[in-house]
Amino acid sequence: MGNLHGGSFQAIQEYFQQKECRFCSHPFKADGIQLLREEPGVLVVRVTCSTCGHPLGVAIVGTTPKTAKAQSTHPRDWTKRDRDRLVGLPPITYDDVLNAHQFFKSLDTDWRKHLPRVGKAS
Ligand SMILES: [Zn+2]
Repeated sequence: MGNLHGGSFQAIQEYFQQKECRFCSHPFKADGIQLLREEPGVLVVRVTCSTCGHPLGVAIVGTTPKTAKAQSTHPRDWTKRDRDRLVGLPPITYDDVLNAHQFFKSLDTDWRKHLPRVGKAS
């Protein structure tokens, strides 16, 4: 208790530390993995290779919300078994990270054109 998000972030760090940078083939290190943003059920992390400095990208990682805030959304008649079942879900999967990475990659190329034009109202 009390370190739920920290635990998820730690899991993400551990996950990436098992991966190798595709540019220099060194494993990623914890200090290259940065928590950018934290929302209920979602962590946004940026991963950079601290050996060669090459950025891997940004990943949105879904987590299983187990915080006090999430409890209020749980139906009151949930049994302990229901909660155990959800708590047992893995916080992240390989596919989650890859999907987020690919999503961000495609977003990166053309996201600007979705932005409304701002500025001069002439
Ligand atoms: Zn590298």
